[in-house]
Amino acid sequence: MVDRLKIEFKPLAIPASGDVAFLVFDDLALPAVAPAALGEAVARAAGIESFNGKALGAMTMLAPAGSGLDRIVLVGLGPKADAAKIDWPSVGGVIAGKMSGSRPLAVVMATASATVTPEQTALIALGARLRSYAFDRYKTRKGGDDKESAKGKGELALHVVDTLKTRKAVKVKDAIADGVCLARDLVNEPPNVLGPEEFAKHAEALSKLGVDVEVLGEKQLKKIGMRALLGVGQGSHRESKVAIMRWNGGASGAQPVAFIGKGVVFDTGGISIKPAGGMEDMKGDMAGAACVVGLMHALAARKAKANVIGAIGLVENMPDGKAQRPGDIVTSLSGQTIEIINTDAEGRLVLADVLWYVQDRFKPVFMINLATLTGAILVALGKENAGLFSNNDELSERLFEAGKATGETVWRMPMSAAYDKIIDSKFADVKNSAGRDAGSITAAHFLKRFVNDTPWAHLDIAGTAMGSPQTEINKGWASGWGVRLLDELVARHYEA
Ligand code: MN
Ligand code: ZN
Repeated sequence: MVDRLKIEFKPLAIPASGDVAFLVFDDLALPAVAPAALGEAVARAAGIESFNGKALGAMTMLAPAGSGLDRIVLVGLGPKADAAKIDWPSVGGVIAGKMSGSRPLAVVMATASATVTPEQTALIALGARLRSYAFDRYKTRKGGDDKESAKGKGELALHVVDTLKTRKAVKVKDAIADGVCLARDLVNEPPNVLGPEEFAKHAEALSKLGVDVEVLGEKQLKKIGMRALLGVGQGSHRESKVAIMRWNGGASGAQPVAFIGKGVVFDTGGISIKPAGGMEDMKGDMAGAACVVGLMHALAARKAKANVIGAIGLVENMPDGKAQRPGDIVTSLSGQTIEIINTDAEGRLVLADVLWYVQDRFKPVFMINLATLTGAILVALGKENAGLFSNNDELSERLFEAGKATGETVWRMPMSAAYDKIIDSKFADVKNSAGRDAGSITAAHFLKRFVNDTPWAHLDIAGTAMGSPQTEINKGWASGWGVRLLDELVARHYEA
């Protein structure tokens, strides 16, 4: 990860020269540190441009002669009465988006009525970093027609009241930003570069932050009995892997929380092969695993006071003479037999074994799995919410609230015995596909059959993890969805 944006902290003052940004409510009043003449020029320009300070609006103007400055950027915070609802990360995103080329931009962290707190400043810095992310390492000719990758590059100087407290708050958010950017990088990487082995190396790299990492290869997975997972990868020349990451930041011996990710590094569909259109996007079928690695990075880097397990199943789903067939029956680690109806319903086979393994070995407080599991979740929820499926109301409620706080929102979907019945198989205990109707729900019920009484939630992120809506803090293809949500969940409820 190369940081395109450098963020510095300086005392609260207006610099003598260069580009300066101000945060303004809808009264357009500048902070007290600004000279009156500047306020008058801004009011006049805003009138001409019809800029009204609405939330996340912005206006750029040439600085008035004699001010010594070059450009002035106004970033709207909306009505003062709604100050509690300000989306600070998005404010940071707007600021980074208003940087001009690689010109440095100074931002005054105060409004006319108050200073921006260290925590709010940290959220602005987080948003600015996420906004400036670009995946352009394979572009040999940068800039030019690629406008997005030219944004948010350079130096942002945040002028704050308390540099020491702000630096401390920013350090925590930097850990989270790094985690999100790591997840984005993994999802964006091309599938020839990132196979199961290469992916596992990224998990192993977390050992630098104090995470214990174990990587299991096919020989060990066979011995353990993860035959459902191995069946998915058997058509690929690349060896399937499972990586187990452990962050022990909590009380020694305290029960861990566990996050499990689907890591299908490329999903052709296998013998039930997908149509060619858009198949390149299936390099992102490991976004669940990418989120878990990004999350483990964030938690370890900010030294979260919790014991956390991250477990990811890494396989490639290819058609081949050795590939799994529709009609095959495999015996999962749980002992339950699975009839393969459609080899493209492979993510649930990977997760079935990893869920069972984590539950059995670590006895976690809860298990949350993330997976780009079904296209059907896009039909139901679009790209605005991830689908939430759970056997536990408290865990669901906590995920819902953490979603509202971070903007990574989830919507709970129904589960019941009537849906579960649909996946009963004629020849085995369960079948891996039951057709189009309620496709996301029957997929969730499949996973549930590999979870006992452990509180569990499944997040179907097929809509939110890639090709997601462009926001003030995400202009790329991979969003890194889930890192901020799950970090918030841990911070709110599971840290000592
Ligand atoms: Mn598939
Ligand atoms: Zn898949």
